[in-house]
Amino acid sequence: MSSVQNTAKVIDGKEASARLKDGIAKAVADLKERHKVTPGLATVLVGDDPASHVYVASKQKTAIELGMTSFQHDLPANTSQEELLTLVKKLNADPKVHGILVQMPLPKHIDQVKVITAIDPAKDVDGLHPESVGRLVAGADTLVSCTPLGCLMLLKDTLGDLAGKNAVVIGRSILVGKPVALLLLNENCTVTVAHSRTKDLPAVCRTADIIVAAVGKLEMVRGDWIKPGATVIDVGINPLPSTDGKRRLRGDVNYAEASQVASAITPVPGGVGPMTIACLMVNTLKACCLQNKIADVAVPTKLPARKN
Ligand code: NDP
Repeated sequence: MSSVQNTAKVIDGKEASARLKDGIAKAVADLKERHKVTPGLATVLVGDDPASHVYVASKQKTAIELGMTSFQHDLPANTSQEELLTLVKKLNADPKVHGILVQMPLPKHIDQVKVITAIDPAKDVDGLHPESVGRLVAGADTLVSCTPLGCLMLLKDTLGDLAGKNAVVIGRSILVGKPVALLLLNENCTVTVAHSRTKDLPAVCRTADIIVAAVGKLEMVRGDWIKPGATVIDVGINPLPSTDGKRRLRGDVNYAEASQVASAITPVPGGVGPMTIACLMVNTLKACCLQNKIADVAVPTKLPARKN
């Protein structure tokens, strides 16, 4: 007996982030022309982690492409906590800097929480300051952590109104799982947060209209965990075992299986990843407008519509 197989719509993060960046660039140009203000993003990188260097370079490049100013601070691995806190203080006071991004992870001798807490919440474009997180919990407007914001934008662009949907978020980190769950709750989803102690995770996932997987375990979510027609957002970034030295990435979801069951799914790479940097730029633009009390510039709050 042959079965008819469904193939899910691919949620294309590259295309979506290009749309978002287009909207940001237009808003930045408008801000510069009418208000003579240029959004400034300061990146702070401590040490020589190669992956962090690539991430930071890409953030700086995107900021410049969109018409913003990028202030780059590359510090040696032996920078003391005091030196880093002094720099953060200086950036907090600099009116040309509207967003401060301290690239994580920091070297072990530096207390990450102390550094995040030292950033002025008005400039917390990574959305990790306790004040930003608290405002998200309260359902108030705030600077939201970039990857979760990207997930939400992709979901709303795909599904429209999310109210009443059952969402299962796998992972409860402060960086991804928790803020994603709060954002979905604020959109009136019924949210379940699963984690390493969750019992019968496949059965929990089968209740979901929306699955957001943020675990860091290669292709853990199988096709038969997914309710037919569900929408799947795969945040995971996992290297495939390599025999030829080439780096290939896959997500937390078994894409080949899941795409036969879901109605829409993000690929890895090319799904959530590209949205993260675009959302950092949204946050920098938003922070700049708030700091300058500018309310008449169109900061994108969702993905702009596709051009026909
Ligand atoms: P963390 O390691 O901080 O958190 C992982 C979460 O997954 C934890 O809450 C953990 O549960 C849960 N978990 C672990 N094993 C299981 C399991 N077997 N079953 C159910 N839950 C489990 O990771 P992050 O949240 O920082 O990142 C998650 C993934 O997303 C990673 O692959 C990361 O690389 C990727 N990522 C991608 C980004 C992007 O831009 N695309 C940005 C940020 C992250 P517990 O709390 O019980 O330990």
